[in-house]
Amino acid sequence: MDQALHYGSVFFNAISPCWAEFVGALLMVLTNNLISIKGTQKETFRLLTFAFYTIILKDIATVFFELIPVLDPNINLPRFVRPLTELSLVSLTTAFFVAGALRNIRMYFSSILLVILLTLLLAGVSIGLSYSETLWTMGAYLSSIYMLTGFFIAGASFYVSSASRQNKAVRAVGNGFIVLGICYGYQLFDLIANIQQIILLCYTITIVLSLVAQVQLLNLEAGKLQYRLDLEKKGKKEVWEVSPFPIVISRLRDDKIIYVNPAARQMLLLPEEGDIEYPLSSFFAQPEQKDNLLEKLHKSPIVRSFEAEVHHPEKNNNFWIDLMTRTTDFDEEVVLFTTFKDITTQRKTAEILKEQASTDPLTGLYNRRQFEILAYQALQTARRYGSPYSVGMIDIDFFKKVNDTYGHEAGDAVLKGLADVLKKTLRKSDVVARYGGEEFVIFFSNTPPEGSKIGMEHVREAVEKMEISADGQVIHISVSGGISDSQSGNLNTLIKHADEALYASKENGRNQVTLYQDLRNSEKEEEDQE
Ligand code: GH3
Ligand code: MG
Ligand code: MG
Repeated sequence: MDQALHYGSVFFNAISPCWAEFVGALLMVLTNNLISIKGTQKETFRLLTFAFYTIILKDIATVFFELIPVLDPNINLPRFVRPLTELSLVSLTTAFFVAGALRNIRMYFSSILLVILLTLLLAGVSIGLSYSETLWTMGAYLSSIYMLTGFFIAGASFYVSSASRQNKAVRAVGNGFIVLGICYGYQLFDLIANIQQIILLCYTITIVLSLVAQVQLLNLEAGKLQYRLDLEKKGKKEVWEVSPFPIVISRLRDDKIIYVNPAARQMLLLPEEGDIEYPLSSFFAQPEQKDNLLEKLHKSPIVRSFEAEVHHPEKNNNFWIDLMTRTTDFDEEVVLFTTFKDITTQRKTAEILKEQASTDPLTGLYNRRQFEILAYQALQTARRYGSPYSVGMIDIDFFKKVNDTYGHEAGDAVLKGLADVLKKTLRKSDVVARYGGEEFVIFFSNTPPEGSKIGMEHVREAVEKMEISADGQVIHISVSGGISDSQSGNLNTLIKHADEALYASKENGRNQVTLYQDLRNSEKEEEDQE
């Protein structure tokens, strides 16, 4: 116990001449690591940190030299060892300070040279000093002088260079260093009794000053950043406000619309200003379209083209849009940024063109091309399921005469009348088309030839009763028909057979419907009779 107390007091005695410097330098190293300085000054701060490391080393060396004779009186170090070590380390400290200062004013090369020169010089001087009794005491003074000089030069350089760059942290360190320099000056002349406390106070002031300045600096930078962001957002909104393209921004988490530009308000019949209460999905005419869109957005953050029917949630203004949307950040929220264009006219035009390409303008029935497409599909389906099918052909009797007697326009009216009869009499599943001038063709699904015959007879009877008025006169017409059998799986053959049966109807006096299979049978009978 006594032993421990003894060593404790020895240690405290040893450290008493430099404890404040030791603690201060340690804190300075920590602070320097905390301060974030950019550019040239970053390098400068590194050199300063080295300076403080050497101060710490020097203090450790001092404690070591104080401890040696107490711990073991037999050890006899050469005289020059202690001043050489201490002064070398102090000169290194000063060199680092000065180098940092020079670097701060961008004298990189000189700063390196200086470190080497000062260290060599001081090492030489200290060896010389150690052999003269009078000069020996001067070593301690020299140490303080070096420290003082280092702090002053470094402080001044920071003070000067920071003025132009407005780096408050750097200037604060400069201020602190000048105060420390003065402090070491006092130590030099032994003017103050409690120099250790004052040194620590000076270090503390420097550290606090630089930390406060650093916080201020960070706040300033954060403020600048916020200002820039605000400005950017304001700038964007100004552009959106005048954009001819509709823009809608909605929150992803709850679908709430948080921004709509005037172009979008106009198109969606929304009031010119004010919040929008309806969620984005309520603008979709078919709710599943919104789900499809979200599904696409799960796969990729941007959907470049998506066609959807939209409307005002409470109005009946349905129209089609092509929209582009992307997920992005806005006002610290994940949002959908959507822009779109009205494609209603394009869609209508496309629909009209499609219809024009597939239908006969006079009767509104499918044209021959479309019949071939649809009948082919129906035939494939029927064959796949093994269901019955047949093809019927209809031709107006003596139509030339109608044209000749009543004129072409009356002929057209007759064609339209016949088309109406076909539409009314036949089933929706039958594919009815105008095959040529006054010839019509029907593909009957799920119907064997006998069944088709009943349908065709209904048509024939309805046409017989039909009255078309032209120029005050009433026109009556009749039609002949032919029906294919169900044997052939080839559409062309089916049509050919129906046509042959139709020809037979004409031959046999018109206004009748003939089954191809009956035609075949009677041909066979004739052959058999012969
Ligand atoms: P058949 O009983 O033998 O069928 O006698 P038809 O006079 O109907 O015979 P044909 O096939 O020789 O005559 C068809 C006529 O249909 C010829 C043409 O003037 C007329 N035609 C064809 N397309 C149109 C049309 O779009 N409008 C009108 N008005 N007539 C048409
Ligand atoms: Mg005809
Ligand atoms: Mg004809």
